[in-house]
Amino acid sequence: MTPDKYIKNYIDGALVPAASGAYLDNYCPATGKVYSQLPDSDEQDVQRAVDAAERAFPEWSKAEPGKRFRILMRIADIIEQNMEEFARAETTDSGKPLAMSMSVDIPRAQANFRFFATAIVQFGSESHHMAGEAVNYTLRQPLGVVGCISPWNLPLYLFTWKIAPALATGNCVVAKPSELTPMTAYLLSKACIEAGLPSGVLNIVHGLGNKAGQAIVEHPVVKAISFTGGTATGKKIVATAGPMFKKLSLELGGKNPNIIFADCNFDAMIVDTLRSSFSNNGQICLCGSRIYVERPLYEKFRDELVKRTQFLKVGDPFSAVTDLGALVSLQHLEKVESYLSLAEVEGGSILCGGTRVEMKGEYETGYYLRPAVIEGLPLECRTNQEEIFGPVVTITPFDTEEEAIALANGTVYGLSATLWTQDISRANRVAEQLQAGIVWVNCWMVRDLRTPFGGVKNSGIGREGGNEALRFFTEPKNVCMKYG
Ligand code: NDP
Repeated sequence: MTPDKYIKNYIDGALVPAASGAYLDNYCPATGKVYSQLPDSDEQDVQRAVDAAERAFPEWSKAEPGKRFRILMRIADIIEQNMEEFARAETTDSGKPLAMSMSVDIPRAQANFRFFATAIVQFGSESHHMAGEAVNYTLRQPLGVVGCISPWNLPLYLFTWKIAPALATGNCVVAKPSELTPMTAYLLSKACIEAGLPSGVLNIVHGLGNKAGQAIVEHPVVKAISFTGGTATGKKIVATAGPMFKKLSLELGGKNPNIIFADCNFDAMIVDTLRSSFSNNGQICLCGSRIYVERPLYEKFRDELVKRTQFLKVGDPFSAVTDLGALVSLQHLEKVESYLSLAEVEGGSILCGGTRVEMKGEYETGYYLRPAVIEGLPLECRTNQEEIFGPVVTITPFDTEEEAIALANGTVYGLSATLWTQDISRANRVAEQLQAGIVWVNCWMVRDLRTPFGGVKNSGIGREGGNEALRFFTEPKNVCMKYG
């Protein structure tokens, strides 16, 4: 299962170039060099993919769940058997440390297939009994052809998080990974062929969001869109798909708060706060980017966080000692840097980091930035309101529980929040009031795939995970039978 220089679309069971024959450059963020090419697909390719999915749907949707289970489990096994190739491809494409690809991204991609393979053989539907009169039962039927569109930060992890439940429930899929990180999706197409997934059940179309992605969203046969990405793109998708009455699951941006009370377990908190700030270079939608600390603990916290941040090793993502690899693209690096300049204009002090790392040899032209901690910024400033999605956090003291909640809730986003306290009553009280789809208490990124996953406010619509995903990808139909 090796990466190829020329990535192909996966349509109707075959690996094919874009109909136009055009390709786009694929960059390796660690070196800043083009290392492969991906199809620059357009609406012709999406049309072919939709046609293939439509043809495959009658058989796949009626296949007994046990058959879908076996094929999805086989795909997971093939990913596992080729773990290192997948992980190397993920790191080459995204710049993230190989250790992270090996321990998080690729294991989670396998887990997504296994989780939804097993979930579908146990998935039931409801019945409602009207005593002495009638019985209602609910059929849960697949939607048809659905679109799955994912971002670059956790490429195969998020791609399969959508594809696996869509396939398990009997839908046929047209999917597009980010143009910045297409390689593991390409390897996935090879795994699907090897696993014997019937032709047309999954189709992967590579290319640009505003061309191939948009063509999926606006195609009239595509019944639902499951999308993870930025809020601005989410808005565009709603504008197109809303008037077409498509089912939408939108997992969008965040500006997540960490609230740290003085009574927390400091040692556990500081370790997890460093992780929640800078894992994957802060390029995880769940990273905590605004850190609020109860005043008596503030100075101790600030000094320790800065010390530990300065200690993080930024560099070659293939090295075992690297904590932070390269950012995903030059454009993204420049975007993050522009927020660092803005933070200073807005009156913030950069306590550490925020400068490029001078690398040697082949890595000289890669996209490396030292992680930054900023203090002294008010809630209302753009640095604290807009998603930066890089290795940048702001820290701010607070005095009361009410103030902490108001600060945490003071943006248009509402994806996740993290709370550190030993006081169980306060933990429950604050968790209840936080405007977020996910609240972690005394931990971060502890994930149980059965739980609802998603955001409130501008962080999205709908939930993924567990039964939520199975429900999203099925249409409930109530059948009411009156007694004779
Ligand atoms: P984008 O919104 O730019 O892109 C996401 C995907 O959508 C890509 O495949 C992109 O293609 C595609 N796309 C772009 N425009 C369109 C369009 N008009 N129609 C259909 N598809 C389109 O996000 P990023 O890739 O930059 O990812 C980072 C964002 O994702 C952050 O905001 C982050 O918070 C969010 N995110 C949210 C998560 C959540 O669970 N809530 C999890 C992870 C990330 P292309 O790459 O070619 O532009």
